[in-house]
Amino acid sequence: MSPEDLNPQSEASSLAAEARGPLAILYGELDAAVARLGPTCAVSGRCCRFEEYGHTLFLSSPEAAVLIADAPAPVRALDAGLTCPWQDEKGRCTAREARPLGCRVYFCDPVFQEHAPRLSEEFLSRLKAIVDQHEWPWGYAPLHRHLALAVDCGELSPPVPSEHA
Ligand code: SF4
Repeated sequence: MSPEDLNPQSEASSLAAEARGPLAILYGELDAAVARLGPTCAVSGRCCRFEEYGHTLFLSSPEAAVLIADAPAPVRALDAGLTCPWQDEKGRCTAREARPLGCRVYFCDPVFQEHAPRLSEEFLSRLKAIVDQHEWPWGYAPLHRHLALAVDCGELSPPVPSEHA
C-alpha cells in the first residue's frame, strides 16, 4: 500500500494515535542501541540535505503519521525531496522527538558505518512486524511524498517558498 492509499486526514490522525505508543518504545530502544555504540554528531546537517549527500529518507505511513502529528510546524518550505523541511538554518533537527527510524540510525561518523546497516535492518524488520501485527498500512516511501499528501489533506502547513530563495 502506498501513502496515497492511506489518507484522508481522519485516517492519518487515527493512525498517529494508534502508532504513537508502539513507535515511542521502538524509537527508544533504537536510540539506546545507538547510544551504546557512541557515534559522534558534529551537527554537519548532512543527514537532512538528501540530494546534496546522495541519500533518500524513506519512512512508513505510521512513522509519517506520528511525525506530522507530533512535530512542530516545518521551518522551511517543502521541496521535491532535496532536503527536510524540519532542518533549521543551523543544520539542527526541529522535529527531534518525532523523527522517524531512518533519521535515528543515520550518522556520518565513520566509526558508525559498520554498525548502521545492521541496526537499520534489525529495527526496520521490527517496525514491519509491529505494522503487520496492528494491520496498519506500510506505505514505505520517501519523506516528500508523505509530506505532499499531508499538505493536500490539510494536515501540514509548511512555510510558502520565497520568490527570492
Ligand atoms: S526529521 Fe530531523 S533528523 Fe530527520 S531528516 Fe528531518 S531535520 Fe533531519
